[in-house]
Amino acid sequence: MRVELQTAMGALLRLLDTAPNDEFPDLLTGVGQLRSIFQGIDVPLEGIDLAPIARLRSELLRTVVCDDADDARDLLNELAMSYGVTPQLNENSEVEFQAEVRGTAAALAALFVQALMELQTRGWTERIHQCEAVWCWNFFLAAPKSRNQRYCSSTCATRMRSQRRRDREFEEPWTNSESEEDWWAAPRPRLVP
Ligand SMILES: [Zn+2]
Repeated sequence: MRVELQTAMGALLRLLDTAPNDEFPDLLTGVGQLRSIFQGIDVPLEGIDLAPIARLRSELLRTVVCDDADDARDLLNELAMSYGVTPQLNENSEVEFQAEVRGTAAALAALFVQALMELQTRGWTERIHQCEAVWCWNFFLAAPKSRNQRYCSSTCATRMRSQRRRDREFEEPWTNSESEEDWWAAPRPRLVP
């Protein structure tokens, strides 16, 4: 199976978004979800066991969040080996990674290993970010020219901007006055008992 890098990465990041963390439980709960995660990817999903998919997800997560470049490469190579992933030429003479291990998780492993290796060879791995907004742990692929992008979407960016404004106004209520001095000098409403 060969799919566009963007399609494969989209599915990979959606899969990682379902991983449990300190705030969220495991969101991978049914086949219906797998269908939306793996849209555009031709793998059998009907009646499949979620455990091998969850195992693949934690292996992928470990590779993606690894800060050390050498370790990240080792983890990716180990992942490829564990599913027997090897490159093959398909009928269109395109390189297509295939897994010797049978099953949907292995087919997905081959696809994602290929996508992550392609990302490595293009020097794009640092474009994978995790959203820094509170209550959002979404993974996203930052645009090539905005590697410092901190939020997964404009919704998260706007939400965090207004949160920062609220925090600032709470801590420094004079922000909206001319100066801190003016704010202190201004008459205060009297508290009526
Ligand atoms: Zn977000």
